[in-house]
Amino acid sequence: MLLKFTHNQPNFDSDLQELFRAFYPSISAGDENYIDLNAAVERGELKVVITSDVFDKFKKVYTFEVDSSSEMAYKRSVKRHLKVALYRCLSFLSNTNLPYGCLTGIRPTKYFAELGVNAKEIFEKEFSVHGDKVKLVQSCVVNQIPYKNTKPETVVDVFVNIPFCPSRCAYCSFVSTVIGKQQAVVGPYIDCLKREISQIKKIIKDKKYSVRAVYVGGGTPTSLKIGELKAVLACLKFGQKEFTVEAGRPDTITKETVKIMKRAKVTRISVNPQSFNQKTLDKIGRTHKVEDVINAYGLVRKKFDVNMDLIAMLPGETFDDFKYSVDKAIELAPENITVHTLCLKNGSKLKEEGYFNQNFEEAKKMVDYAMYTLTAKGYQPYYMYRQKYMAGNLENVGYSKPKKYCLYNIDVMEEDTSVLACGAGAISKKFSPRINLIERQANCKEPADYVKRFEEMLSKQKEFWEKDSENKSD
Ligand code: SF4
Repeated sequence: MLLKFTHNQPNFDSDLQELFRAFYPSISAGDENYIDLNAAVERGELKVVITSDVFDKFKKVYTFEVDSSSEMAYKRSVKRHLKVALYRCLSFLSNTNLPYGCLTGIRPTKYFAELGVNAKEIFEKEFSVHGDKVKLVQSCVVNQIPYKNTKPETVVDVFVNIPFCPSRCAYCSFVSTVIGKQQAVVGPYIDCLKREISQIKKIIKDKKYSVRAVYVGGGTPTSLKIGELKAVLACLKFGQKEFTVEAGRPDTITKETVKIMKRAKVTRISVNPQSFNQKTLDKIGRTHKVEDVINAYGLVRKKFDVNMDLIAMLPGETFDDFKYSVDKAIELAPENITVHTLCLKNGSKLKEEGYFNQNFEEAKKMVDYAMYTLTAKGYQPYYMYRQKYMAGNLENVGYSKPKKYCLYNIDVMEEDTSVLACGAGAISKKFSPRINLIERQANCKEPADYVKRFEEMLSKQKEFWEKDSENKSD
C-alpha cells in the first residue's frame, strides 16, 4: 500500500519520517492514500491524533504524560511518545511488527544503557522491540562492560582515514575513490595527513591524554603504495594497546604489507569477504576472487587478530548463499566476524540503479541464522549499530571470540571516548564526561578538498581541541 505521510511536528521530522519509511519504504510522489499525525501538548499532556483514509473514518488518539523537568527532558519525552504513537498506529494499519519496534537512531545499546534498570521492560513493552532483539542489545551491553573506557577524561582514541580503494563496491556510499584514478592526489594527501597526525600528537602530549586504540580505516589503507603505507603507520606510535588497520580488500594484502604492518606493531586487521560466493562478488564490484580471501587470510592469521565482514541481503543472494558465507567464515575461525545488513544509501551504485529489496522475512532469517550459529560456535555479540535504509530494518553486529573485542568499535558506538580524527571525511569527537557533552569537528570530505583547504582545516582542528568545553558550558 502506498501512503503519503504528513505531520505538524517539524522538530521531530527526521525521526518520524524514518519510522514511517521503515513501514512504507517505497513512497512515491502522488500517492493516493494519506496518514496524518497531529500532536499538541496541553497542561502537561501530549495528545496525538492520527487520521488516515486507508479505512473509512480512521482515527486514533493517544495521550501521554510529558516530562517537563527540564527543556532537554521535555524534548526527549515528546519525541519518545510521538514515535510510540506513530509506531502503534502504523503497526496496526500495516499489520506489521518491526524487529526494533519504534526505535530509530543508530545506537540502541547506548540508549539501553542510559535507561538503566528498567531498560528491558521499556524496550519490550513501550517501544515494542522484539524479545530476541532486546536480548541481543542486552548481551552487547553486558559483554562490553569490562572493556569500556573507565577514564574518558584522559584516555582517547585516534582515527586515521585513507579514503582510497582498488575499485568501488556497488553498495558503497563512503567518500572513497578508486586509487588508480586519484594518483595525483595521493602523494599530497599523505603529506597533509602526516602533518595532521603530528598536530594531534602534540595535542595529545599537551593535554596529557593517553591513547588506547588507533584505527586506520577508509577506504582501504592497504591500497596505498608500500612506501606510503609504511610512512603513515610509522607516524602512529602512541603507546596504544590496540592498533587496527582496515585492510578490507584481500587483493591488497601481500607478504610485503603484512611485514610492514607487523613491524609497525599493528595488532588487528580486517580481511573482508562480504560474501564467499563468487557470483555475488562479481555483481557488487569487488575485483577479487573468493580464493584471494582465503590466501590473504593465510598470510595474516596468527600474526594479527582478524575481523571478517559479511553482508546479509546482497543482490541476488538467497538464504542458502548467505548461510554458506557464514559457515565458511566460521570454518576459517577469525577472531571477529561482523555481520552487516545491506544498507542502500544515496551515493551507492546499487541505489542509483534502483536496486531495492526490503524482504523483511528473508533479511531476518539471514541475520537470525548468523546470530544463532555464531553464538553456538563461541562468538559473542559485543557491539552493534543500526543505519537508515537497512534491509528489513535490522542491524549490524560485531561478534568476537572471548577477550578479542575491538576497543575502538565499542568506544565509537557507545560515544564515551574522545576520538582525535585525521584525514578527509574524518570527524573528531570530544567527549566531556562531567557534563555529558559530545562535540564534533569534521574535516573536508573529498581528498582533493582536504589537500586544498588543509591549512584552514588544521587550524580549526587545533582550536577545537584547545577550547575548554567544560568551563564554556558552565
Ligand atoms: S572497500 Fe569499503 S570503502 Fe572501499 S569501495 Fe568497498 S565499501 Fe567502499
